[in-house]
Amino acid sequence: MKDQKESSQGSAQTPAAPAWINSGTAKLQNELVRKYGEAQRARIDRGLKQVSGFWRDSDGGQTVFEEFVRTNFAGDQTSLDTLFGRFEYLLEQTFGHMNEISRELRQQTDLDAGPVQPYDEVFAGYDPSAHLIDDFFANKLAFVVLLNFPVTTLDEKLTEGEKWSRRQWAETRLAGFFSKRIPADVNLAISKAGAESGQYISQYNIWMHHLVDDKGQRLFPPKKRLLSHWNLRDEIKADYPDPQNGLAKQRTIEKVMERIVTQTIPEAVIDNPQVDWNPFTNEVKAAAVKDSDAAQPAGQAVNTPEPNTRYRMLLETYRASRLADPYSPTAPTLIARRFDEDRQIPEQRVQKMFEQVLSSPIVPRIAALIQKRLGRPLEPFDIWYNGFRPKSKYSEAELDAIVAKRYPTAKAYEQDIPSLLQKLGFAPDRAKFVAANIVVDPARGSGHAMGAAMRQAKAHLRTRVERSGMNYKGFNIAVHEMGHNVEQTFSLNSMDYYSLNGVPNTAFTEALAFVFQGRDLELLGLQSPDEQAAALKALNDFWATYEIAGVSLVDMRVWHWMYDHPDATPEQLRDAVLQISKEIWNRYYEPVFHKKDVLLLGIYSHMIDSFLYLPDYPLGHMIAFQLEEHMEKEGKVGPEFERVARQGRLTPDLWMKGATGSSVGPEALVAAAERALSIVR
Ligand SMILES: [Zn+2]
Repeated sequence: MKDQKESSQGSAQTPAAPAWINSGTAKLQNELVRKYGEAQRARIDRGLKQVSGFWRDSDGGQTVFEEFVRTNFAGDQTSLDTLFGRFEYLLEQTFGHMNEISRELRQQTDLDAGPVQPYDEVFAGYDPSAHLIDDFFANKLAFVVLLNFPVTTLDEKLTEGEKWSRRQWAETRLAGFFSKRIPADVNLAISKAGAESGQYISQYNIWMHHLVDDKGQRLFPPKKRLLSHWNLRDEIKADYPDPQNGLAKQRTIEKVMERIVTQTIPEAVIDNPQVDWNPFTNEVKAAAVKDSDAAQPAGQAVNTPEPNTRYRMLLETYRASRLADPYSPTAPTLIARRFDEDRQIPEQRVQKMFEQVLSSPIVPRIAALIQKRLGRPLEPFDIWYNGFRPKSKYSEAELDAIVAKRYPTAKAYEQDIPSLLQKLGFAPDRAKFVAANIVVDPARGSGHAMGAAMRQAKAHLRTRVERSGMNYKGFNIAVHEMGHNVEQTFSLNSMDYYSLNGVPNTAFTEALAFVFQGRDLELLGLQSPDEQAAALKALNDFWATYEIAGVSLVDMRVWHWMYDHPDATPEQLRDAVLQISKEIWNRYYEPVFHKKDVLLLGIYSHMIDSFLYLPDYPLGHMIAFQLEEHMEKEGKVGPEFERVARQGRLTPDLWMKGATGSSVGPEALVAAAERALSIVR
């Protein structure tokens, strides 16, 4: 019964505040104003409101509350400065050392350092800071911050932030660390839902050799096993150059995707090489060929559809997310937390930017160009067309040889960083300063960048080095990761306030890394991409943004639908996703592709397990383009890179205005694609 009542309100119940909290607060208000003066009234009101909003009976009774407030309110500038400075320093030490512990615990699994034992994985999965926020509420350090510094909403940051001083920004970022008090069991439920849906997605393979057509023909080679949706989509891209079977393969994959979205896919064909499947007729038979180590077909050759598991998983992530709503007063839905806190751009504005791309007049012009290059009318899967690729002047083998000679070891790359940075326009002393803060390690995987979280620690660049030396692909990734490390160094070590360290959101750190990565050939002393290559890249990026903007709108509308229908069943959610996918398609794609009611926009796996993450991609493309264009205009990367990275964690629009003079938006991308249309034919 309780469950029903909660869900019919669309959110869980508000956590119980102690009965005395209002009278206790009013009493203190008068007392503190008398003590510190009228000038402190606004701070007192706000501080008391923030503390009482999170205070629970378990934190202590009214006497404890009153005593706490009297002791910890900093009523004059000197004590406030001392408090601010101490928290800045000690939080840096806390977060910084936690980060160092985590990095050490992951060392064996992250680095190319021999076999990984089962206990290594347990160490790697252990997060020493998992309970930090809980602990800081329990020992009341969080309340000290909430009593003295302002938690601000996105709206306040947007309307007033431009007038704030750096210190004011730092104070609200400091308070922001404690803007939520989510109980451990709620966090656990959220990560459990995330892990379960992630597990579901990670095993969703299609055995391609077992896809058969009406004549029993197999288009795909034995053993090919593709994960939905990433590998399936990449296979569509890879099939363009195949003149014989490319189109038939692409159409087959499109049908498979449609079966997944509608959940008419037979459950027996998921990750199962023991059956053959014709996705067009939906017929399932015991496999006629064997291309795996699995035992001979024990043959569940039935075509019972998957029972809407896809949508049940998505619903579970929604239900778990909703549990946190009452504990997050300034962002009381997952949608608000994603847009107002993580991205810090209002949802309506994000939606507008996406619509601007989707309904841009250059879309039909680029579509016509693709059609001309393909020599056939567009088909729906051409939203993944990837033919705008410049031909490299150098072969992969030539590049491999150059890189291997230069970088036989990770150490050799590390020693070269100062010189690489100077080639990018950094002054010698700046290059030296940054390089001194970066350690290069040999990575087990393809590579990653791990920033420090306190100034006395170093950023780590993890790169893959083969026994024969680094290859070109490894170098390309290393340059990208180095971009991250350089940003991390400036936005931590060169900051005026610790609480402002970083960039507004992940799209910015990626954009800055791409600025480096795009110049990798220059760094090797080779000819950099020409006008034609730049134009192709602009068209490629625009088309990719056009595709993912539609997918993102589906993701956004689906989350709203779930919040509007908290009691929905998986079947109802499936029908809603189908409806929303069709509507977005018919509005923005049908006019170009001339086919109605296509469901491909609903295939993304992130939509199922990533909690409204998809809008980050189109935003990332736009931000990267804006920043790249600015760097090109400036001519040299170094000084501008440092200047923009040192702005810290402002809102995206404020940061971008400081960097380029304009707010975040698709204009730079659209303009570049339009120019490209007169260059590429
Ligand atoms: Zn990156």
